[in-house]
Amino acid sequence: MTILDGKLLSENIKSELAAEVDQIRSRGGKIPHLAAVLIGENPASQVYVQSKIRSCEQVGFKSTLIQKDADTSEAELLEIVHQLNEDPDVDGFIVQLPLPKHIDEERITLAIDHRKDVDGFHPVNFGRMAQGLPAYLPATPFGIVEILRRYNIETAGKHCVVVGRSNIVGTPISILLSRKGYPGDCTVTLTHSRTRDLPGEVRRADIVVAAIGIPEFIKGDWVKEGAVVIDVGINRVPDATKKSGSRLAGDVAFDEVAPRSSHITPVPGGVGLMTVAALMVNTLKACKKEIYP
Ligand code: NAD
Repeated sequence: MTILDGKLLSENIKSELAAEVDQIRSRGGKIPHLAAVLIGENPASQVYVQSKIRSCEQVGFKSTLIQKDADTSEAELLEIVHQLNEDPDVDGFIVQLPLPKHIDEERITLAIDHRKDVDGFHPVNFGRMAQGLPAYLPATPFGIVEILRRYNIETAGKHCVVVGRSNIVGTPISILLSRKGYPGDCTVTLTHSRTRDLPGEVRRADIVVAAIGIPEFIKGDWVKEGAVVIDVGINRVPDATKKSGSRLAGDVAFDEVAPRSSHITPVPGGVGLMTVAALMVNTLKACKKEIYP
């Protein structure tokens, strides 16, 4: 069994990006600039945004963090989005989700200029991705595809079962893996909370992608011997043996599933770090106007 090391891969990607930023700097070109907007005090969101800002520093990007109270109005946030859309120095930006209940996430996503939508959440980017046109790929599915590519995992003709159909993970990864080319050409089954006999569906998978949000939901005897397992879940669970009283767990029961799988991503140290690296790749593409010349 091989651990798919998201930490190592994300460090490799960041080194590649840093080398390119050095070249850009030496020829006097524009340094990529990512802005992040964080509304409220959600502790997980704070950790994610900090890790994005830190990654910008590591690769030599410019970054701007805009932090506002949880009682920020939708109109105020829309004004921030408009300013970032108009700011010629900002190549790409993200509005960290989830947003407080009184703000309509869809309205905010739609207000972001799709040419700066480095999270790949805007329907223009989603639609272009679905049609195989150049687009910012949503960061988590992009990170998963890079794991498969960088470990040379064969995908053509494989049966991939995706568990969870969210707009940011399950649905887009099912589209990417069914597209023509590598990594892709899979036969994909997209499963969800209304699927009948989920264990039976997962058992038929050569590649399992778990994006559910329930800790250790996928059990050992659900997984075929030799399957490739990608665990997207990031769940905090109580753990009295830890000083903090808790630990992170994936959506896969790692101890049971790992011995049966050929390759598996750990949590932490798997998909999460690749998501941040993918965001950095999208920001460089934005700066180079690679997707939207
Ligand atoms: P979501 O809540 O938007 O979607 C969950 C999906 O799981 C839904 O489509 C639902 O149908 C399905 N589901 C729920 N209960 C089910 C059940 N009993 N059986 C089958 N399917 C069921 O979640 P999301 O945003 O896709 O996130 C999923 C997990 O991935 C979470 O743990 C989240 O924290 C994590 N996540 C990690 C990253 C990363 O960078 N690694 C990025 C995004 C999300």
